[in-house]
Amino acid sequence: MFNPFVLYLFLFLFIANRGIIYAFIEGIFNRSTKKNKTKDITDKKILDLIYKKTGLKLSKILLFDTSKVWAMMAGFPPKPYMIISNEAYKNLDKDEMEWIYLHEAGHYILWHNLKMALLQLLFIFPGLIMPIIIKSYILQIIGSIILAILSSILYFYLARLFEYEASYYAMRRMTNPQAISTLALKAQKRWFDKVKHEKFHKLFNTWIYDIYENLVQAAKKEITSRK
Ligand SMILES: [Zn+2]
Repeated sequence: MFNPFVLYLFLFLFIANRGIIYAFIEGIFNRSTKKNKTKDITDKKILDLIYKKTGLKLSKILLFDTSKVWAMMAGFPPKPYMIISNEAYKNLDKDEMEWIYLHEAGHYILWHNLKMALLQLLFIFPGLIMPIIIKSYILQIIGSIILAILSSILYFYLARLFEYEASYYAMRRMTNPQAISTLALKAQKRWFDKVKHEKFHKLFNTWIYDIYENLVQAAKKEITSRK
């Protein structure tokens, strides 16, 4: 016997966080099999650059061995650090990497980790309310599955607003906004061209190619305004 609420919550949290769950499993698996320990790529120059542009004092930058372009902020104040996937690190040039660093710093400065956690907490409520409205157990189970899918779609839509915010934050502060167009091109060629069901992908992912498209347009304006 499944509890409909537990089923809903499990499905929602899994769909919403599957990217990061997968990246962590892959990273930890690669670390144990390839003897490829998480590398410390802390560079004083980069830490200073991030501090100068965002006011964020990072303690270190670590490289995580995963096949996706991916980065995240970890640790807690006053000692936050950054994790970067080596797929990003080996494929992006200095200017493109600066955008990644500033994007992640932006998430931290704008309290996005906390906001996303609170946003996920809000999605507990639909799961709590549904079994009150629907009485039949079978319908509750079916309802849990459908509701988890619908909640995930709404969650990705809202979480994407944070990605837009951090992306613009980084673009406006980067030394060379021209790197946005090469970054978008690389992203399309290497990763987004491989996406098979585009409409489906857009519904169930925070990172979609549209973010780059909008960012390229915004970067053009930024370049003109700096002249
Ligand atoms: Zn992000």
